Formats: sequence, C-alpha cells, structure tokens
Amino acid sequence: WSSRDFPWTKKLEANNKKVFGNHSFRPNQREIINATMSGHDVFVLMPTGGGKSLTYQLPALICPGITLVISPLVSLIQDQIMHLLQANIPATFLSGNMEWTEQQEILRELNSDYCKYKLLYVTPEKVAKSDVLLRQLESLNARELLARIVIDEAHCVSQWGHDFRPDYQGLGILKQKFPNTPVLALTATATASVKEDVVQALGLVNCIIFRQSFNRPNLWFSVIPKTKKCLDDIDKFIKENHFDECGIIYCLSRMDCEKVAERLQECGHKAAFYHGSIDPAQRAFVQKQWSKDEINIICATVAFGMGINKPDVRFVIHHSLPKSIEGYHQECGRAGRDGQRSSCVLYYSYSDFIRVKHMISQGVAEQSPFTPGHNRFNVANSGRVLETNTENLLRMVSYCENDVDCRRLLQLVHFGEKFDSAHCKKTCDNCSKIKSFIEKDVTDTAKKLVELVKLTGQQFSSSHILEVFRGSLNQFVKKHRHETLSLHGAGKHLAKSEASRILRHLVIEDFLMEEVKKSDVYGSVSSVLKVNQSKAHNLIIGRQNVVLRFPSAI
Ligand code: ADP
Ligand code: ZN
Repeated sequence: WSSRDFPWTKKLEANNKKVFGNHSFRPNQREIINATMSGHDVFVLMPTGGGKSLTYQLPALICPGITLVISPLVSLIQDQIMHLLQANIPATFLSGNMEWTEQQEILRELNSDYCKYKLLYVTPEKVAKSDVLLRQLESLNARELLARIVIDEAHCVSQWGHDFRPDYQGLGILKQKFPNTPVLALTATATASVKEDVVQALGLVNCIIFRQSFNRPNLWFSVIPKTKKCLDDIDKFIKENHFDECGIIYCLSRMDCEKVAERLQECGHKAAFYHGSIDPAQRAFVQKQWSKDEINIICATVAFGMGINKPDVRFVIHHSLPKSIEGYHQECGRAGRDGQRSSCVLYYSYSDFIRVKHMISQGVAEQSPFTPGHNRFNVANSGRVLETNTENLLRMVSYCENDVDCRRLLQLVHFGEKFDSAHCKKTCDNCSKIKSFIEKDVTDTAKKLVELVKLTGQQFSSSHILEVFRGSLNQFVKKHRHETLSLHGAGKHLAKSEASRILRHLVIEDFLMEEVKKSDVYGSVSSVLKVNQSKAHNLIIGRQNVVLRFPSAI
C-alpha cells in the first residue's frame, strides 16, 4: 500500500502540502489513504497524535462526493470543522441540538447537485435516531455522492473497551444500507478483542488492518505510592520538573478535582478544575484559558481529554488509579504530542482500588465525556460489563503493584504488542531502578491467608486479616476473639508490606474476592474478603503454587 503509483498520488501529495501544510506523510498515513481510496474497508489502530484525521480528510478533499464522519463528541466535531474551514475545506455537521431551520438549510445543501460540502460530521445518536439523516444518506448514495463512511473513536463500539457507547452498536446499519461504500474505522485504543468486536459490529468486509506500535518513547512512566502527603508530592514534582509547564492531573471524583485544584492554586500554580458537572460555559472558558496558556494545570476527571489537541502537555499525573490500562494509556497519550520528553506519574494506593471498584459496581464512575447525558456509564451494573470493568481494573492494579517489569512492556502486552524492555532505555521507574530480583515461593503463606479468611467467616477486611495474621492484639481483634484462632500470628515473621503484597496478589489472581460493604461513594468504603472456592481449592490441595518476585536485598 505504500506505492506512489496510484492514479491519485500526485494530487494527494500536492494537497497534503498545499492545503494541510505537511511536508511529508507520517507512518502509515499514505498506506491507509491508498487502501481506503482503493475502495477497501480499513481498520486503523494508531496512537493518539499519530495523525488519524488526515487519513480521511485528505481523501475527502480529493474524492468526488461527500465523506460522512461519525464522531462521538460535539466539541471534538466543532474543533475539527473549525480547522477544516480554516484550511478552506467545506465541512459541516448535523446534531440534534441544532435549530431546526439550520438543519433544514444543511439538508437542502446536501440535496443540491452542486453541494459544496466535502465532509459531513454527525454523532452516533444522530445515526441511530434520525430517519431524516438515513434518508438523506440514501439520497446521496443514489446520486453516487456518498464517498466514504468514517467511524472515529471506533473502540466505542465494543463493550470490552473502556468507552462503550450503546449508540455505536447501531452503526452496523450503515454497512447494511450502503454495502458498496468503503468504511474507515479509526481508533487509538484497541486490544484484540475490541478489534474483533468493532469489525463485527460494523460489518466490515475483508477489512485491511493497519496498526503501529503504541509505544511512546518520549513519555516517561512511573508509579509512586500514594500517601497522605500526595498533594505535597505533586506540588514538589511539578515545581522540580515542570515548573510553569502544562499538565493534566486526572482525579477520580468531581470533588477531588476541585480539592486538588484549590490546593495547587494555594501552592502558586495556575490550576483549574474540569469535570462533568460544571456548566458548558464554564467548561468552554476553562478549555480556552488552557489552550491560551493562561492556565497551566487542569485537574480533571476523564471527562477532559478526548479532542484535546494541545501539543505541549508536559505531564499527565494520575492522582488516583485509572480504570483500565487502555484508559490509562490513552490519558497518558495526551502528553508530549510534539514528541518532546514528558512525564506520566501515577499515584497508587490500595484504598483507591477499593474506591474505584465500588464506583464501577454502582455505575457512577465518570466516563469520557461525549454529549451531555451520556457521560455516565449507565450500563455498568449489568453482569458482563461489570465483570469486564472489574477485570480491567484488576489489571490496572497489578500494573501498579508490579515493581519489577518495564512499564512499557506491561502496557504494550495489553495491546498484544511485543516489546523488548531494552528499548525502554531506563525511561520507566522499574527499568531505571538498578536492582536484581529473587523469586520466592509464597504458597505456604498464601494458603494460610486463605484459611484465615475462611476461619473468620469471610466477613472482614483485608487490613483486619493482615492484623490477625501478623499477631496484632488490637481492640478489634480482641472484640472478635480472633487472638484465639490457630492462625493468629501465623505471619508474625513477615514484614507488613510483604504480607500485604501476598494478600493483594491473592485478590488480583482471584483466589480471594473483595466485596464492598458500606456504600459511600465519595467517602470511606469498607470491603470484606471472601474466598473464591473453585480457585482457592487448587491452592489448598497443592495443585497450584503462588510465586512472587521480590527485590533482592543488596
Ligand atoms: P490523532 O487523531 O491520531 O490523535 P491528529 O489527526 O489530531 O491525531 O494529528 C495530530 C497532529 O499531527 C495534528 O496537529 C496534525 O496537524 C499533525 N499531523 C498529522 N499528519 C501530519 C503530517 N503528515 N505531517 C505533519 N504533521 C501532521
Ligand atoms: Zn521500562
């Protein structure tokens, strides 16, 4: 597909320079354009900042007819259209919020034989709910004016992904109605299972897949234990490494955003907060200040991000645990789009895990923004989706708890990509620690912990189990007469951190399950450990061992 002998090659190169001001193509751009212009269905996996827009905007410009672009977010669409109009490319969009007369005018133009538009953007709801739009597309198609259908952020189709949107699933209708129109599906995030879902749901035929490495060599990754001093740490980190530079701090709850922003302001930073419940005018104001560098730091929920095109974001800090590795990768991807060195720091605490898990199970975790009313993961309570979300979260936990393997490798494995950690060149915390490790068989301890959870009736928290295990005689232990248990103090010889790491490992590996007891979404949440019988059985009868890697003492 990299050939320069296609009939359109000259025109392509000329317009890339003249209209878009680019001197060359970035990796895969030429190939993708050639494949879609040859009439194939194409699936593109390209990291954020890779240059996906050009792969449909340039063909739209040089092909006869109109390119339909489905994009999840009105603000993203507006941003794109602004850029297109600046480059003198006629583009428009249809949305439900528009005045009826305005919609009518656009439809009239689409019906004209000399229609000026090259690109028509719509949100997925529009496709699902508007017969008017479908009829319009049929009419364009009948007149051979429907050049191409582009599905941006295509991972939203998949329930396995982190941004599932029900309206995306209805997009399969487009291929049914217009089987001869090439579809171009684009995403910056997809695992193998997501990719399959997308291809299937959209009904792509013999689709050609382009994917490139998701490694971002200019991003430096680290995970830092989150303590009570976390905000001091963040302040210090920014002052020492990124003074007066731009960054995003992702927070779990809306309240956290406000608290973190306030604290950073007190420390002298130009910080603001951004989340789903601030009103649109305020939101637009913050975005504008941010793009004009009047604000350096945005403390945001994941509602902030998609469509953020600022090239010089120098750091992305996660004040709490992200919900999945995919989400984390994408959020970090907003740093360093200009290719300059940037930092991605994650503050991790186990109690945040409990908190996020609870939010997910209640369906109150804030998702990426899209249109108002859609920023809640309202299907999160249902079985399969809840299970997937919890599993995604557990993977994120094991990423954080891993203080041995290369962070890049751990992320890329998740995207089905092989990575040689030698190429990390010590740009992650784990690679830069020069230390050696030993493997330890902790099966015996693991068994005892599982037994202890059973003995205490599967109704206590992990911290209580650890207290009993390490022989504490605190009031709570005594109240429940747990000092009389045979396993009281069985883990006396272990360091607290070691015992707790083993216990967490048992949860991550599904030997034990953590159930949230009290429901206070924004406050403290307690949880109890339960035994996962089927998995734990293998451990107890000696059919399975538990091995952990520990840094060797030097
Ligand atoms: P994505 O959608 O993959 O995140 P964009 O399409 O927004 O990425 O492109 C990211 C940035 O790269 C934009 O500022 C765009 O102008 C720029 N860009 C895209 N293609 C090229 C190219 N061939 N040469 C130079 N800059 C490019
Ligand atoms: Zn590394």
